Amino acid sequence: MAEKLSMFVDLTLCVGCRGCQTACKSWNQLPGEKTVYYSGLQSMPDTTPHTYNLIKFKEVEENGQVQWFFFKRQCMHCTEAACIKACPENALSHTETGAVVRDYDKCIGCGYCAKYCPFGIPKVDEGVQKMGKCTLCFDRVAEGLTPACSKTCSPGAVQFGERSQLVSKAKARLEEVKQLYPEANLYGLDEQFLGGTNVFYLLPKAPEFYDLPKQPSVPAILTTWKDVIQPIGKALPLAALGAVAVSAFLTRIRENSHSVDKGGKSHGA
Ligand code: SF4
Ligand code: SF4
Ligand code: SF4
Repeated sequence: MAEKLSMFVDLTLCVGCRGCQTACKSWNQLPGEKTVYYSGLQSMPDTTPHTYNLIKFKEVEENGQVQWFFFKRQCMHCTEAACIKACPENALSHTETGAVVRDYDKCIGCGYCAKYCPFGIPKVDEGVQKMGKCTLCFDRVAEGLTPACSKTCSPGAVQFGERSQLVSKAKARLEEVKQLYPEANLYGLDEQFLGGTNVFYLLPKAPEFYDLPKQPSVPAILTTWKDVIQPIGKALPLAALGAVAVSAFLTRIRENSHSVDKGGKSHGA
């Protein structure tokens, strides 16, 4: 299998220029949307089916000085991806290099991926009943290019390449910035963290500052559904037992997703 290609977002270098946001729109030919006055120069409250990459702004006053902190919000391209497990149409999958991508024709816009993503990333365009999110520019990567956001980021805050090399760089950077940012940490690197996400961050502040979940996980019911019940249901479509089990699990998944909706699931910054 090909080595994983990852994205390392070093937020200690981000200057909030939003060049990456524009480059993403441009490469993916995503339509313009009405902006909303939200926080400083932030374009809108969250990503949308047509805005895959959003720079979020946070203003804080520390020691009598105002400081800006930025967050590049996008799909994390999880190794253990809840969205893939939740999709009843098998419309989501990993590429050989680790990106999580959607098959446009298979997607029916049901929204289960959105309900179970620990970061609240997938967004459904109700008009066409299709989900939209960052693709890690798999089409550029297949041609030997880097993602559009990474290519355009002049301070070098968005780096793309072989995971093992980026992990070493990230660890070295963490040591360098610790004095300036005592709370600095690497987010998404640990294998206990959804298998290690393919987009990982150097955060100057603790994850809570960015409203990021500390220990995101894939609900066990999704793994059972995807890896055990769904294959049985497909292999034995007429077997009464299989049908009953599939129906019972679908009901539980729906009930569970409603409780996730109501339960104040933690989303990214
Ligand atoms: S292009 Fe780079 S510096 Fe500018 S907002 Fe995006 S990540 Fe930050
Ligand atoms: S961040 Fe959400 S949408 Fe992206 S791969 Fe992970 S579970 Fe799927
Ligand atoms: S990897 Fe591509 S699709 Fe994803 S945020 Fe960057 S430019 Fe947008």
